[in-house]
Amino acid sequence: MQKFVYLFNEGNSSMKELLGGKGANLAEMTKIGLPVPDGFTISTEACTAYYEEGKTIPSEVKAQLLEALSNLEDKTGKKLGDPKNPLLVSVRSGSVFSMPGMMDTVLNLGMNDETVKGMAELTNNARFAYDSYRRFIQMFCNVVLDIDGFYFEQYLEEIREDKGYSTDPEMTAEDWQELIVGYKKIVRKHIKQDFPQDPKEQLLLAIDAVFNSWNNQRAIIYRRLNKIPDHLGTAVNIQSMVFGNTGNDSGTGVAFTRNPSTGEAKLYGEYLINAQGEDVVAGIRTPQPIHTLKNEMPEVYQQFVETSNLLEQHYQDMQDIEFTVEHGKLFILQTRTGKRTAQAAIRIAVEMVKEGILDKKAALMRVDPDQLNQLLHRRIDDSYQRKQIAKGLPASPGAATGMVVFDADEAEDLGNEGKNVILVRAETTPDDIHGIIAAQAIVTSRGGMTSHAAVVARGMGKACICGCEALKIDVKAKQFRVGDTVVNHHDIITIDGATGEIMLGEIPMIEPELSAEFQLLLTWADEERKLGVRANADNPEDAHKAVEFGAEGIGLCRTEHMFMDSKRIPTVQEMILAETYEERKAALDKLLPMQQSDFEGILEAMEGHPVTIRLLDPPLHEFMPDKEELLVEVTKLQILDPNSAQLKEKEQLLRKVRQLDEFNPMLGHRGCRLGMIHPEIYIMQAKAIFYAASTLSEKGIKSKLEIMIPLVGHVNELKAMRKLVVEAGLEVKEETGCDFDYMVGTMIEIPRAAITADQIAEEAEFFSFGTNDLTQTTFGYSRDDAEGKFLQAYIENKVLPDNPFAVLDRDGVGKLIETGVTLGRKTKPELKTGICGEHGGEKSSIQFCYETGLDYVSCSPYRVPVARLAAAQATIQHEQNNKRQAGVTV
Ligand code: PEP
Ligand code: MG
Repeated sequence: MQKFVYLFNEGNSSMKELLGGKGANLAEMTKIGLPVPDGFTISTEACTAYYEEGKTIPSEVKAQLLEALSNLEDKTGKKLGDPKNPLLVSVRSGSVFSMPGMMDTVLNLGMNDETVKGMAELTNNARFAYDSYRRFIQMFCNVVLDIDGFYFEQYLEEIREDKGYSTDPEMTAEDWQELIVGYKKIVRKHIKQDFPQDPKEQLLLAIDAVFNSWNNQRAIIYRRLNKIPDHLGTAVNIQSMVFGNTGNDSGTGVAFTRNPSTGEAKLYGEYLINAQGEDVVAGIRTPQPIHTLKNEMPEVYQQFVETSNLLEQHYQDMQDIEFTVEHGKLFILQTRTGKRTAQAAIRIAVEMVKEGILDKKAALMRVDPDQLNQLLHRRIDDSYQRKQIAKGLPASPGAATGMVVFDADEAEDLGNEGKNVILVRAETTPDDIHGIIAAQAIVTSRGGMTSHAAVVARGMGKACICGCEALKIDVKAKQFRVGDTVVNHHDIITIDGATGEIMLGEIPMIEPELSAEFQLLLTWADEERKLGVRANADNPEDAHKAVEFGAEGIGLCRTEHMFMDSKRIPTVQEMILAETYEERKAALDKLLPMQQSDFEGILEAMEGHPVTIRLLDPPLHEFMPDKEELLVEVTKLQILDPNSAQLKEKEQLLRKVRQLDEFNPMLGHRGCRLGMIHPEIYIMQAKAIFYAASTLSEKGIKSKLEIMIPLVGHVNELKAMRKLVVEAGLEVKEETGCDFDYMVGTMIEIPRAAITADQIAEEAEFFSFGTNDLTQTTFGYSRDDAEGKFLQAYIENKVLPDNPFAVLDRDGVGKLIETGVTLGRKTKPELKTGICGEHGGEKSSIQFCYETGLDYVSCSPYRVPVARLAAAQATIQHEQNNKRQAGVTV
């Protein structure tokens, strides 16, 4: 018979897939002798079986569950439902990958009208027993019976008011008993049945609810965002309860073994005295920092510090630990790998190498390249004199500016419209997840550094400020106040998640720099990686940034961006409007020195590193005024000033714009097709490049030129364009008396080019895969239309696994790249190959490029550090796979 239920002493940390992360770690902690309350785990396979049986707990699962329960009863000496000595349990979800707060949990299960009396006698604390019972009813109804918690909270509020209390601790045992009577009435009203009194029935219902919560809305959104497969399912952990709310010698808390925001190697966390499980993470009461526990419970603190060290050493990673103290005795309820910011991930990885916990390769694998984007964002200018209006806890670093919104749905709507919003709430709950995703940053007035908002924001790399108690939020009036300052809905604020400061309006930001630790980690990455990393840069500033971030060259310099400059566009238009060769030549002669100086700047910045310059690519209409606007102007002039010279000029312009108009510009007159029809444009560009190299060479500055022809589909196109470039080169050499080397190559961005790469390679010294266009042309999607119209639906409905414009489609586009590389190298073994589409900065695409044997990837300067790390990880991953195949454990 298949085993579905595992006692904690039957598992270990390697069984995550079966027991979920929480279950596997509870088993591991039990194995190494830590004080973990007894319990057992129902496997993720049971969850799959539950769904296969049409959302019913299969009978084998039930049978094994009852056996494990009786084992737990023997171990604890308590019995579920025993009025004299009742066993109470928690029922918690636990998936393979951590999904904090996304699924359901029930605490104090096993309480009923009889066991509550037993609890009261046993603990000699009727108040505690009845408080626990009402919490259980409330939680069970919310999670399992689907009755909105609001009804219970409202009733509690009424009773408190009646009695003239302002807080819960003022409620007596009798008050709680009275409340429970009312709670039961609420239950009967909503489900037309009594609150279930049979603890076994409670248990089965709770397990059912946890399995079901795998598919609740917020869990589905979270999985989509974090690419967690839907089929994995959740395990269920049943654990005997320990109570942190039995008095002032009890408490509960959460701590990280290192600071999850900065990475500092210091215990970091918080706790609440006389509180139960979820109170800390729920963010309702603002907890105490962990170090003050040293004064309140010195022995417990000491034991906790030792346990934290042990857990970190054991797992060789930063841990996020939940604990409870019951009458002065410490229990560990959970440990997991702590979520951290990019800054913390780098610092922890680097320091763990220095501490001898990790080797360099392991450290490199610990940092997620995607997360690094957080550090490559702009931050508030240091020289700016900040005027904060309030300060909260610095829960997740990063600076953000946006409109204030108080509602997650509105945050989502405005976010989808492309607006920057900052979600401001008293606290967030897992139901706000869609608003958090859409917001630039989160601010809460309640809750600590481990509250829901803080944990989720750090996981997403979003700036977040928590526990900013000075903020008085009035959701009805759609505003918040800080002292006399009123900030209304849609006002702009700026926040700094690294300091906790909130400021009014927009604030100047500066470009990011790499920290010393980040630089060190990247030098380790450079030692490992085999793939070159270049940058896409079109101007000297970007080129400097690229070098600063460690690029080894420019893989794509798009020359059209130089044409877009407002001072140049009239000359560009002159060139386009020219009716005769002479007119066009005159315009090009004006453009040449401008281009030359651009190239000089870039080549100089790159200090002899290779620079791939692509000749003009976009259709010419992109340099012309908008057709519709022009039409409006012409019409107005026809009415107001029909004989004017201005009208004639505009009409001529409109004629030309109409001539250039295309049904499908993406597949129209662009790329090398421009050079084929207007060779003088490419000749001018080639000359400008060569003049730049000559001028620099006279100054003793080397340049390494790679001239690239775009959108080639047939070898004859490349042959013709190459001839132009070579002739221009000879001309400039003769004229300047300067000798220079250069290569001519092509972009491979049309499927035909990839599948005839053996012919194309006859004319090319290098290939650069333009995966933006190659993806468009392989799928037959126009990117702008696809992303705006149907692609999102394709991804949501899993027609496509990812956006192919972001993550390289290995099966289709990837196959063309492999074909291109293989055929190209068959003709020319020394052929240099690279990628310069946006995929060049994305980790899984980079892994593919490494495995396909490309020489380099090229991406935006800000992604160069990401690419360096991802390229190192690709090498390490490949080595590990080889070792695994050879049967070596890694
Ligand atoms: C490409 O097509 O991948 C490319 C880099 O060119 P562009 O994005 O400029 O069309
Ligand atoms: Mg392209």
